[in-house]
Amino acid sequence: MTGTVWFVGAGPGDPDLITVKGRGLLEQAGAVLFAGSLVDRAATRFTPAGCEIRDSKGMTLEQICAWLIDAAARHAVVVRLQTGDPGLYGALTEMTRPLDTAAVPWAVVPGVSSAMAAAAAAGETLTLPEVTQTVILTRVAGRTPMPAGEDLAALAAHRSTLCIFLSITLLDTVQAELRAAGWPEDAPIVVVQKASWPGAETIVRGTLADIATRCAEAGITRQAMIIASPALGARHWPDIARSKLYDPRFSHRFRRASAAEDTP
Ligand code: SAH
Repeated sequence: MTGTVWFVGAGPGDPDLITVKGRGLLEQAGAVLFAGSLVDRAATRFTPAGCEIRDSKGMTLEQICAWLIDAAARHAVVVRLQTGDPGLYGALTEMTRPLDTAAVPWAVVPGVSSAMAAAAAAGETLTLPEVTQTVILTRVAGRTPMPAGEDLAALAAHRSTLCIFLSITLLDTVQAELRAAGWPEDAPIVVVQKASWPGAETIVRGTLADIATRCAEAGITRQAMIIASPALGARHWPDIARSKLYDPRFSHRFRRASAAEDTP
């Protein structure tokens, strides 16, 4: 037999943030390989008795692929459980290409990314009318270089929301690049460590000037999302532009503008 390998987004940390579809697959799984460096073993709690469960933390890509191919020869449902969404910094294509070569069918179930979980934890919106309508998911260069045109200073020139992954140990580089793009010293930045992890989440708010110091004081060195955005803190602003969706003067497919409120 050849089972299917499902790349399932486990979500950002809270085991309850897996999708219903992902949970359903875990309930049917014969074998689960979870990325233990970022996914808590608790995420595998939905598996049936007798399910083979393995942490891939110490494995190479070749070992991971060999394990998945071998498991698919024995089980109808094999789950590769990944942190957040599998399509973001998840080595997805490196794993699916060997499966294609081995003619093992596979599919992806999306997950809640840590970018969304961090914004939710901080009670922030990533888009705000007339402030920013764009979100850039990015990182700064570590051992993985950035492709041409994607350095943070170039992306930050848009003045849109930046969700910066994999960069908490490079906060000084983040600061330098935002400065190079002309962001002011009082530009708000929020860092969320272990967003959604029960009892472990830390939120640090600061500015371009002091965010590195504040993170150092809070002891944040890993598993953190950096959000830099002109929309941060909007709940405390005296006034914000309204979203057209809920504006009484604006008609759309599901609601007609009310005549009374239609007049300026
Ligand atoms: N696929 C994942 C990202 C994996 S890369 C996703 O969609 O979220 C790992 C990086 O994600 C970490 O360096 C950190 O920047 C971020 N990250 C993962 N889990 C996080 C969490 N619970 N809170 C904050 N950041 C997290």
